[in-house]
Amino acid sequence: MEIRIQGVSKRYFSAGKTITALDNVTLTIPANQIFTLLGPSGCGKTTLLRCIVGLEAPDTGEIMIGDELVFSKDKNISVPTEKRGLGMVFQTYAIWPHMNVFNNVAYPLQIRNVAKDVVRERVAKTLAFVRLEGMEQRPATKLSGGQQQRVALARALVAEPKVILFDEPLSNLDAKLREETRKELRAFLAKLKITAVYVTHDRIEALALSDTIAIMRDGKIIEVGAPKRIYFDAQHRFVADFIGRANLIQARVRGEEGGHTIVDCGLGTIACERRDMPVGSEVTLCLRPEFIRLARGAAHGTNVVSGRVESLVFVGEAYEAEVRVGNELLLAKIDPDANIEEGAAVSFALDPAHCLLLAI
Ligand code: ADP
Ligand code: MG
Repeated sequence: MEIRIQGVSKRYFSAGKTITALDNVTLTIPANQIFTLLGPSGCGKTTLLRCIVGLEAPDTGEIMIGDELVFSKDKNISVPTEKRGLGMVFQTYAIWPHMNVFNNVAYPLQIRNVAKDVVRERVAKTLAFVRLEGMEQRPATKLSGGQQQRVALARALVAEPKVILFDEPLSNLDAKLREETRKELRAFLAKLKITAVYVTHDRIEALALSDTIAIMRDGKIIEVGAPKRIYFDAQHRFVADFIGRANLIQARVRGEEGGHTIVDCGLGTIACERRDMPVGSEVTLCLRPEFIRLARGAAHGTNVVSGRVESLVFVGEAYEAEVRVGNELLLAKIDPDANIEEGAAVSFALDPAHCLLLAI
């Protein structure tokens, strides 16, 4: 089911100050996708989710879920939360510790007065789906963190919602469990084929889970796209910087040549992926650390740059090297078995396809 948000704003008044949590947000969330709202803490993600769910009334705008207008300021429409046909998963601890698994999952059906045998059947089916079959009588607190998260998912799914919404559901799990649960969640959602709206501030989670990512900042949607598009081909400096580690280098456009946009910067003259930018304009060159491939001695090809390794940190799957090139200090990711030490003279050739230009 598609969700359409049109001109939605939300302001809060607190301690004599006005906070614009949502600033004229217009957004279409396509049907049957995993759609992620990604942005730093305080940018308005939860507020937007709460407006979709109906826990918060926007000051302006309209929200449609499928063909139904669930909120309109102008038409004075506000469909109550329980009539919007949605399921929600919050951060962990969203399950009720004093109840067993069955009662946690059955709750949304029980409040709808669904017949007892139907409840039993639906709970069993949903628990099987999240691979917790036979756990009905288990006290919720006797489950692992990952299992508790699956109970929360089962509870959100049991009433067969048209849309499921998640607000940072993995943020209370430790790193390893978070990774496993993320993979499981991706598999569950792929099987379900319903619209999923997922809120997180964790870029890795967004990249790993989403079909589409919307990047938010200060109550606004900055950019929307598929994970790879956002990572490799961002339009905004904020987005390029937020979605991955990036070297951001001040540059000036020199012109076009051989299908590339040529810039002058602290690394020299660099041929970049073509972008329409006026000659002479100040821009930012974005280089991902994994595309700075250091070699001892002289590198060959286009965009050859020479420098010196200023520091080297072993992080397991790679070395993170800081490479000094004139006034620029670049972060490079290199092979753990590369035979390079601190102080070494190095060079590298930058593939123009990975030299991304951004308007300042
Ligand atoms: P996020 O989920 O992206 O961290 P939120 O949507 O929770 O951001 O908050 C957006 C902004 O609105 C923040 O500045 C937050 O402090 C403010 N805010 C959210 N809810 C309230 C509220 N009930 N009263 C006052 N300010 C709020
Ligand atoms: Mg939040």
